[in-house]
Amino acid sequence: MTGRFAPSPSGRMHLGNVFTALISWLSVRKHGGKWILRIEDLDPQRSRLDYARQIEDDLQWLGLNWDEGGVDAIGENGPYMQSQRNDLYEEALEKLILTGLTYPCSCTRADIMATQAPHESDGRVVYAGTCRPKKLGGMRDSNPEQVRATRLFVPDEEIVFTDRLFGPQSVNLSTHCGDFILRRADGAWAYQLAVVVDDALMGIREVVRGCDLLLSSAQQIYLYRLLGLEPPEFAHVPLLCNEARQRLSKRDKSLDMGTLRKEYTPSQIVGWLGYYAGIMPEPFPISAEGLLPLFSWSALRKETAVVN
Ligand code: GLU
Repeated sequence: MTGRFAPSPSGRMHLGNVFTALISWLSVRKHGGKWILRIEDLDPQRSRLDYARQIEDDLQWLGLNWDEGGVDAIGENGPYMQSQRNDLYEEALEKLILTGLTYPCSCTRADIMATQAPHESDGRVVYAGTCRPKKLGGMRDSNPEQVRATRLFVPDEEIVFTDRLFGPQSVNLSTHCGDFILRRADGAWAYQLAVVVDDALMGIREVVRGCDLLLSSAQQIYLYRLLGLEPPEFAHVPLLCNEARQRLSKRDKSLDMGTLRKEYTPSQIVGWLGYYAGIMPEPFPISAEGLLPLFSWSALRKETAVVN
């Protein structure tokens, strides 16, 4: 079994990011599997190499060791930085163009959001189909002077899947997001395309991430289908909130790893996370390794935990 942690290096990790990493790590280690660290630095404006290195340092400090991947790694599934995987995304895009379901688009608003994982609070927009041609047919950009985004047609159909924690899901992409971006007009790859290509090529069988990305799985399953690839199992985990019941954000420094490392030990942090996950009755200090015997998916709670 191969799992992964796929952080965006756009700031210091907060407790919620670490929570996701821990659950993914526990699940993989419990199965004697392999854990890959992939750096999702698609967005050139927000990604920074020093943040990526800081993520590695924080994971190591917490005892969350990975088997493959990271900033400088070479390995059978590398490179592990999305910014170095252009050729692979290019190849996948070519395949999608051949399905005849893509078209060039000159709308801008959603373009700008497209490299980011569409976390619920980002104010999702449903694309109205403004640039969709009357007849689809593998249209390449007829006017290369004007650089445009590439968008993918979505069918009016329910995509069904079962999330390991949240159970059966049914999403109609035409009402959930509409035709979505594969590549922005400035050439940046969209999260949805890159994540599918990478998870598939890296042989990931279990995707663990925050539940704000639960419905994105439907877009990804659609891409797996068009590319003739087998989707992994999806397991979304609850988000952590602050006392004001807002989900933790990298902007809020009080619960980021910089602050937490000054005040607590790795075992204290892991203990709190085990408690929030519902696998420990009390938040006593424990190592990630020590938490392994207590971990099971059926014991995990689905409710948002409030960090106090
Ligand atoms: N890179 C995304 C993030 O940090 C996670 C995407 C995923 O796990 O699929 O929010």
